Amino acid sequence: MAISAHTALFGVLGHPVRHSLSPLMHNAAFSALGMDAAYLAFDVGPGRLAALLPALAELGFAGLNLTLPLKEAAFRALSELDDEARLLGSVNTVKVTPGGGLEGHSTDGRGFLRSFEECFGAPVAGRSVFLLGCGGAGRAVAIACARAGAGAVRLANRDQERACALEEEMREKCPGVSVETVPAGSWAASCRECDAVVHAASVGIRPGEPALLDSGAFRPGQALYDLVYMFPETPVMAAARRAGARAANGLGMLLHQGALAFRIWTGVEPPIPLMRSALETAVYGKPLVGAEANPGSGDARAPVSEASIPSSKTGTGNAINPT
Ligand code: NAP
Repeated sequence: MAISAHTALFGVLGHPVRHSLSPLMHNAAFSALGMDAAYLAFDVGPGRLAALLPALAELGFAGLNLTLPLKEAAFRALSELDDEARLLGSVNTVKVTPGGGLEGHSTDGRGFLRSFEECFGAPVAGRSVFLLGCGGAGRAVAIACARAGAGAVRLANRDQERACALEEEMREKCPGVSVETVPAGSWAASCRECDAVVHAASVGIRPGEPALLDSGAFRPGQALYDLVYMFPETPVMAAARRAGARAANGLGMLLHQGALAFRIWTGVEPPIPLMRSALETAVYGKPLVGAEANPGSGDARAPVSEASIPSSKTGTGNAINPT
């Protein structure tokens, strides 16, 4: 990629941010489309965000992503917001308009829904969902599932008050969907009863970290989606598979939230297969092909044989440790 005086600038802001795979994915897309554009990563604390956003727009940045812990701070800093950002109180995508204005968008929920359907061959609509982890990402996914027609949403969180607060919020924002908080002692039993399980706790991001749910929480016929994306198989995915459930990591959510952001910034159709290959190469060591990559197989973009899967316990030369 040749950087010129005309190069359009994009980037992700977060803290920490050096683990981010977004530069890889977006630069692969710009290069494939022959666009004179570059995407970089910047380590920014939440206290500096409100001042930095207009400064970056003034410097000529055309679009930004926000990751932990900046999504709520970006929401507070912006006045022009799309419906989803307003509903979630969170912004992960900022578009700089030609006049220098800043538009806040949220693509996390739609990114999750697309990836879930792609991985398991059917949408979350009509399914009962057990969601563990009610932080920023879990909250976006829980609300997205409810709005997409999930039959019921059960919320579990280490700090139970946080789950109760989300339950209350969802009763207001998603009336008509059955929502309940599950106390810690009942997680495994409640999880086994649900059709879909979403792991949205930031556990499993460090090699060797034990899963919060063991195989007793799963059964055949279930679909587990772990938002953690930096390993081919996370501890909770391994637990689900041992019990006969299907399992996927969060790489597809990263891909689709990024593809939606790309469209918002550029108005151009993103080269999704190529962006997927870039991410898969970073995490799996190679793009997935054939049965490995068949989204409708129900095996959730997982390598075909367990033996070929570098686990988060053993690590892999390509695994990215976010800490
Ligand atoms: P967050 O706002 O900091 O929330 C962290 C969540 O993890 C909270 O629910 C927290 O529970 C829980 N947690 C942390 N340590 C725990 C422990 N030892 N035991 C039990 N629960 C624990 O983070 P986030 O933005 O929601 O991100 C959550 C995960 O999703 C991260 O791994 C992130 O990388 C991933 N993610 C993936 C994508 C994607 O595109 N695939 C997008 C966004 C996020 P408490 O409330 O009790 O602290």
